[in-house]
Amino acid sequence: MPLPSMRLHGAKQCTAKSKRTCLPCNNPAAYGCTSCRMHGARKNIVSGKDHVNFVHGRRTLEAQAEQSAVSRRLQQLEDAMHLLGMTTAKRSRGRKANGYTKLTSLDDIKRLIK
Ligand SMILES: [Zn+2]
Repeated sequence: MPLPSMRLHGAKQCTAKSKRTCLPCNNPAAYGCTSCRMHGARKNIVSGKDHVNFVHGRRTLEAQAEQSAVSRRLQQLEDAMHLLGMTTAKRSRGRKANGYTKLTSLDDIKRLIK
C-alpha cells in the first residue's frame, strides 16, 4: 500500500515491479521520473532550467564559466596595469580564476589585447 502522503497529494508511484512477488514498488517516484530512488531514478534526472532546484540560473555551469572568464580577464588586466606602471595599488588577494596565467612581460600584454 502506498504511503498516506502519496494518496493525499497525488504523488506518482514507482512503476517498478518486484521480481519475487510481482507486486509494484510502493515508493514514491523521484521528481520528474517514473521510478523511485531504488529503481534507477537518477538516470532520468533533468538538468538546467528543467531541474527542480533551478531558481535563477546564477549558479549554473554556464554562468560559473562566464564568471570565471570575467574574473580571469580582470586579474590579467590588473597584471597589465602593474606591469605598465599605471597603478601602485596593492595586488588583489585570494584564489585566482580557473585558467589564469600571470602576465610577466609586455609580449603577454600584447597577446592579451589581441
Ligand atoms: Zn521503486
